[in-house]
Amino acid sequence: MDRTSEEHALNIDPFIQIRLLDLQKVDSELDRNAHRARTLPEAVTAASLHAEVMALDDEIAGAEAALFDLRREQNRADADVELVRQRVSKDQHLLDSGSINDPKQLENLQHELGSLARRQADLEDVEIEIMERVEIAEHELAALVTRRDGLAVDSAAANEARDVAADALGVERAELTNERALMAGEVPADLLKFYEKLRADHDGVAAAALHRGRCEGCHMELTAVDINRIREAPSHELLRCEECRRILIRTAESGL
Ligand SMILES: [Zn+2]
Repeated sequence: MDRTSEEHALNIDPFIQIRLLDLQKVDSELDRNAHRARTLPEAVTAASLHAEVMALDDEIAGAEAALFDLRREQNRADADVELVRQRVSKDQHLLDSGSINDPKQLENLQHELGSLARRQADLEDVEIEIMERVEIAEHELAALVTRRDGLAVDSAAANEARDVAADALGVERAELTNERALMAGEVPADLLKFYEKLRADHDGVAAAALHRGRCEGCHMELTAVDINRIREAPSHELLRCEECRRILIRTAESGL
């Protein structure tokens, strides 16, 4: 097992070497815990439902504004019809009173009543058309509100599921963190520092077991030469995998 001149073999108590492997297990579990916390499916569902509710809120606001405008239009149409009705009533009253004797004046009045009747019919058509549009808009708004309210219930449930899942991960994280602190306390500070640096450089895995002639860090089979070298190495020598440079720990399962 060749070693560059600046890397000297570290002498570490075999018990501490095994401790390093335990520490690695806990650190890997902590990494998985953090990854799960970042990628919680419950959080994805909750976020997507929340976005749907927000989008529906916007749609509802738009539908309410449109309905408000339509109702204003409806009020105007009602007022227009009412004005014509009053005018008709006034003219009709004048006609019925018999106070107009001039034939020309009578003819004008009857002519005006005819125009007013046509105008009233037109305005009433407009009034009915707006009324129908108001009804459709009210129906659409009610449907949107029903859909939003249903989704809001789903969204609240999804938020709760997300919080429960996150809490469970938090409990696990707290336990692992305690466990890690105890293990790290048993590892000499220099070695711990070296381990942390290796972990940062090697995707979170600094220490790997030698398992049946294979490095569990990079999963490469060690050469016969390396295996022989390891067999001869003193148990306190901290070994490194020639392939991935991780700390290689001998266990009863190493196949030596
Ligand atoms: Zn390796």
